[in-house]
Amino acid sequence: MIRLASHLAGKWVEGSGPSVELLNPATEEPVASVASGGLDLRGALVHARNVGGPALRALSFAERGLLLEKMSKAIHAERDALIDLAIANGGNTRSDAKFDLDGATQTLMAYAELGKKLGDRRVLGDGEPVDISGSRLQGQHVLSARHGVAVHIGAFNFPAWGWAEKAATALLAGMPVLTKPATATALVAHRTAQICVEAGILPTGALSFLCGAAGDLLEHLEWHDVVAFTGGSSTGLSIRKTEALLRQGVRVNVEADSLNAAVLVEGASDATFHAFVRDVVRDMSQKTGQKCTAIRRVLTPASELERVREAIAEALAAIKIGNPALDDIRMGPVATAAQKRDVGAGVQKLLEGTRAVFGEPGKVSPVGVPEGKGFFVPLLLLEAADSLGAKSVHEHEVFGPVATLLPYSGSERALQIVRAGQGGLVTSIYGDDRAPLGELVLGLAPWHGRLVVVDEKVAEKSVAPGTVLPGLVHGGPGRAGGGEELGGLRGMALYQQRTAVQGNGPLVAKLLGAG
Ligand code: NAP
Repeated sequence: MIRLASHLAGKWVEGSGPSVELLNPATEEPVASVASGGLDLRGALVHARNVGGPALRALSFAERGLLLEKMSKAIHAERDALIDLAIANGGNTRSDAKFDLDGATQTLMAYAELGKKLGDRRVLGDGEPVDISGSRLQGQHVLSARHGVAVHIGAFNFPAWGWAEKAATALLAGMPVLTKPATATALVAHRTAQICVEAGILPTGALSFLCGAAGDLLEHLEWHDVVAFTGGSSTGLSIRKTEALLRQGVRVNVEADSLNAAVLVEGASDATFHAFVRDVVRDMSQKTGQKCTAIRRVLTPASELERVREAIAEALAAIKIGNPALDDIRMGPVATAAQKRDVGAGVQKLLEGTRAVFGEPGKVSPVGVPEGKGFFVPLLLLEAADSLGAKSVHEHEVFGPVATLLPYSGSERALQIVRAGQGGLVTSIYGDDRAPLGELVLGLAPWHGRLVVVDEKVAEKSVAPGTVLPGLVHGGPGRAGGGEELGGLRGMALYQQRTAVQGNGPLVAKLLGAG
């Protein structure tokens, strides 16, 4: 069995102490093991700060962008082998695995392009000079790389994309990265990081990789370090509360749970209606519903409830569940036994205010796996009679292939229902009647990091709401953690210090131009 090591202070090192086995979620066979006891995490951070940081900051944005391009190409070159690892350790279908891996390489490439555009500079001006006294006195805001380490803690569902998207923004901004993926699905994260290290692309200390539990990592962070966390709200809260981080004023970005909604607007054209059904079904089944951006709440005009229910159920019925190593399987298991338990318990909570209209809670017959093995859960479409009254639907994220139909009448009611989710990553709105579309977009924007509007003109080509785009921000207020990542320059700002430099305007401009 493969024993996964960490890459710290420029070397591969194995941890000691109790080890955790990584399993194939379809068969429950062990595929790798990892231990992270006894690792010198303080030393790793010091090395990243003192060796990786200066080397990265000495490069221009264009040069850093070139590193990202090489990382993207190196990972892409091993795509087929990585797909096999994702099937073995993530329960991914081939299509799920490609979604994760291509998300990683395309995001790296998008930031490589941005680096090229930013060119030879090493610091960025932020906006136009601000007049102070009407004479030569002016102020210019400037963004420069922080001199610490970007510590990235990832969730289990995107072992490649999860770390690569964070690393792309931080490295382009000029900060060294220490990335810690979720342990249960670390095989793909480990191999992708190993590919980048072995290819010798990055300066020493620019990319560190911690495999296994975080141990005392956060205790050693200092004020100019940054933590970017993706995972559950309760873990996010415990990270935020870490005394060392509070004491030192370490920046913490949290990407957490979200009860994403899809809203069908009354009178949608056939093309828009089909896009709505397509996106709901894709989000329920892709990665077995284990996407932070997946649609959990499906708002439909009460007058169209029956049509929507039938269309979604028909499409769900065509999805074959089983061992993702088999070609015709469209949905694999959830990633771990704990996830399976959580999904089961979460569904019971949702059933307090809903009934199942497709699938039977707890009942699933996966194809191609040993009897009784694997962390499989059924596809479930639930329906609420009282959309706002079904409280658990608006409070509890079931991280699996489960969504709830919520009938509504009128835009005001739709706003109330979506807002009951208390802040989210993304909501998608499908319709062709501009008046309600406008009310929904303006009424939901303050509740979300991203809104997807689909009308008949873009219905066929629109990118599914579950896909996070490198050029647009990812994150959301409230329950979603209050964080913000990606979005080009916006995402890089997390890793930069904004400084107002005031004085003799032309002189300041010359000084900054030389940066
Ligand atoms: P999780 O249990 O919260 O774990 C997330 C990460 O935190 C893992 O790497 C975990 O390491 C680490 N961790 C746990 N305790 C820690 C501690 N005390 N100090 C430092 N790190 C710690 O979440 P998950 O089960 O992997 O992911 C599922 C959740 O993530 C869902 O709720 C989903 O909504 C959310 N998610 C959000 C986004 C987003 O962008 N908003 C994206 C994906 C997923 P170990 O694995 O070693 O325990």
